[in-house]
Amino acid sequence: MEFNVGDIIKARKKHPCGEDKWEILRVGVDFKLKCVGCGHIITLNREKALKMIKEKM
Ligand SMILES: [Zn+2]
Repeated sequence: MEFNVGDIIKARKKHPCGEDKWEILRVGVDFKLKCVGCGHIITLNREKALKMIKEKM
């Protein structure tokens, strides 16, 4: 799977706010993701990000 800024992805686990979709804000060595439900932003290294991503919307 290839990811680009602006893509919406579905995560394996739900965020505590109940949402499981995230918007990609940055790709590269680190991925920056924003929860579509509450706007919470997280930064993960590529390996962790790829593990949490279930599918591309
Ligand atoms: Zn959330």
